[in-house]
Amino acid sequence: MRNKPGYVLSEPARDVVFAQGPASNWVILRRDREFTLVDGGYPGDLDLVLSSIREAGLEPAAASAVLVTHAHVDHAGAAAHFAGEYGTPVLCSPAELALLRGREKAQVSPGQVLARVWRPRVLVWSAHVLGAGGLTPVAIPDAQTWTDAGLAELPGSPVAVPTAGHTPGHTAFLLPGVRAVITGDALVTGHRISGRTGPQLLHTMFHHDGAGVDRALLTLAQLDASLLLPGHGPALRIGIREAVNTARERSARGRPRAVVVLPGRGRAGWAGEPGYGRVPDRL
Ligand SMILES: [Zn+2]
Repeated sequence: MRNKPGYVLSEPARDVVFAQGPASNWVILRRDREFTLVDGGYPGDLDLVLSSIREAGLEPAAASAVLVTHAHVDHAGAAAHFAGEYGTPVLCSPAELALLRGREKAQVSPGQVLARVWRPRVLVWSAHVLGAGGLTPVAIPDAQTWTDAGLAELPGSPVAVPTAGHTPGHTAFLLPGVRAVITGDALVTGHRISGRTGPQLLHTMFHHDGAGVDRALLTLAQLDASLLLPGHGPALRIGIREAVNTARERSARGRPRAVVVLPGRGRAGWAGEPGYGRVPDRL
């Protein structure tokens, strides 16, 4: 099975291979013949994931680990194959483990989305999701949690950045050597149901905890990164702080709520949740 229109592969930093898939993205962190795979599209994207790895000059069986930013089906789709076929460790954060093992669910279905947001592009997206195995339950019984020390040993030496909100254990990854950040769904640059390009948040209905999503943005803004590798949309060379401010500004415009001013930037952001106004000094 091969999804159309396939993926777009780029290497925006040395040994960091970014695949923009049909509806979600994955990242290959290369070290000689080994690599770490971060996320892996929908189940129906598996052939795309495998061919992108080969196109990067690697063999899928040589994966050192599959890291999952969060256990949604559009990011964990290929992980079961790696665990089952090659015995690759599939790793996630502690708070995400029950979801990844299939013991809990936290995801809207295409039907729920259609019921809430009816637009032509949502219909197109829903058709894609169904065709790509989007209703397949996420269930990887052998999934484990990572340790910071274990992550440091992996190709790419990713550093876990807890960014709960989109899901209870959502995690971004900082790649300090190349000043890049893999943001998963905490901060994206597009989505098939979004008409926008550039830094933005996913539609609120996709999030487990809206206040957490905003806190996660503030966490991301503290990182030293100038290359954004999102779960949806293209890779972007942009200072992470600027990307966060843009996303929050757009989010604020979309919601008639109270605003706060981000120190040093003079821009308005969203403060939709009580008690949120504690903006870190360094932002
Ligand atoms: Zn996603």
